[in-house]
Amino acid sequence: MELHYASAPENASIARLASRYQMFVDGKFIDGQGPDLESTNPATGKPLAAVSSASAADVDTAVAAARRAYENVWSAMPGAERGKYLFRIARGIAERARELAVLETLDNGKPIRETRDFDVPTAAQHFFYYAGWADKVQHAGFGSRPGALGVAAQVIPWNFPLLMAAWKLAPALAAGNTVVIKPAETTPLSILVLAEIIADAGLPAGVVNILPGAGDIGAALIEHDGVDKVAFTGSTAVGKKIQHSLAGTHKKLTLELGGKGANIVFADAAQDQAVEGVVNGIFFNQGQVCCAGSRLLVQESIAEEFLDRLKTRAAALRVGDPLDKNTDVGAINSAAQLTKITELCAAGSNEGAGRWTSPAMLPEQGFFVAPTIFTDATASMRISREEIFGPVLAVSTFRTPDEAVAKANNTPYGLSAGVWTEKGSRAMGVAAGLKAGVVWDNTFNKFDPTAAFGGYGESGFGREGGPSGLAAYLNTDDEGVL
Ligand code: NDP
Repeated sequence: MELHYASAPENASIARLASRYQMFVDGKFIDGQGPDLESTNPATGKPLAAVSSASAADVDTAVAAARRAYENVWSAMPGAERGKYLFRIARGIAERARELAVLETLDNGKPIRETRDFDVPTAAQHFFYYAGWADKVQHAGFGSRPGALGVAAQVIPWNFPLLMAAWKLAPALAAGNTVVIKPAETTPLSILVLAEIIADAGLPAGVVNILPGAGDIGAALIEHDGVDKVAFTGSTAVGKKIQHSLAGTHKKLTLELGGKGANIVFADAAQDQAVEGVVNGIFFNQGQVCCAGSRLLVQESIAEEFLDRLKTRAAALRVGDPLDKNTDVGAINSAAQLTKITELCAAGSNEGAGRWTSPAMLPEQGFFVAPTIFTDATASMRISREEIFGPVLAVSTFRTPDEAVAKANNTPYGLSAGVWTEKGSRAMGVAAGLKAGVVWDNTFNKFDPTAAFGGYGESGFGREGGPSGLAAYLNTDDEGVL
């Protein structure tokens, strides 16, 4: 029996969208000296709001404000007091959760189901979690006198705008640092509402400064002499540039970069459960996830049956209006990203992989890609090697656990992997051989503020989440101790 869903759109006015947003510097909302940016709704391709952007001079102003706040207020404040501000921010996010979810969906294009049930609650959880750490830093095995680093420069991407802001801000503040943060050019709105929450929480002026702007402002910020710590999430290409430009400086660096995660499905796996995990691994957030399970390695003996089930399931995903509560796959974040995905899909077809595309009807306007699965993807194909950052899965087969591990590790990245098997010893044995910062067993894309997240190789270094995430903002070398 085929089920049809009536549309159930969330009300866009809940986002309380303004026509123009300002930067947040030294506790005030001010105009930057850069040109206004235009934020676009990826589901329609139409403008959403103007956003004042920073110039290089604004970077100087923001870093100076963060330095004053660090020296005069924040570094001297007892941890328990700092923690109170973080609790207030967490509660502020929870109180404005619905507004933030709708705004994030409008600005990013991801389904309301995801912003409502994942992005916004997880952002609040990060502040709650690190609020609890603020008064325990001295007693947690970070050395005899762990201290804050000073001013942290943070640059974040567009795939989880609010959540990435929370991942960066909460541990930095809990550890006693002040921050200047640059959101991605295409998704600056939710962090500017977070700025209102921060202001309402009474955070002292200059402790958090938010500078919308393009990549050149990100570069000016991380290269600024007045910053002590750089934390970047984004592409490996930009991460490499940052590492070069910081070499030889005193700045402590963490990089969360790209990935090409493998989901490994053994013949004894619970197949329906594994299908759900593979679908979640690659179609969650339209596949625009650094730890996406963008490669499927399936054991040869079940490959045909598993792929049939997978295609049947993927064909049932509803693609369309991100504000519709029934939507599974929303819009791609930008026209540029859509072009990149389209180009890599064409490369997959040209290089000889078998292409399956969901029959889902795509909206006539906006940036949409139907779920796509490439079979017989060989290791040399671009779709197997490059981060596509879209709803596109590359599938190949294996016969033995050793072959699965070798194929999964055949990538310069090392961020995530999934293992699907009913046998615990096999899961543990395979996980031990995988060069990935996170390995999920019979699940995928599970995130928790208490758990460390980060990569190897071209996926970057340093950890976010858990006590290790705090260590990245402290003058201790014991990053891996907890
Ligand atoms: P970028 O790495 O260019 O962007 C990430 C952030 O860095 C943005 O805030 C960006 O600003 C900023 N930035 C850009 N150039 C510099 C620079 N030289 N110095 C400092 N900051 C800079 O990713 P894109 O948004 O261009 O996406 C390109 C590809 O990167 C995607 O197709 C995807 O494959 C990958 N990507 C991976 C992510 C991950 O988490 N692994 C996240 C995002 C992208 P601005 O927004 O203005 O460009």
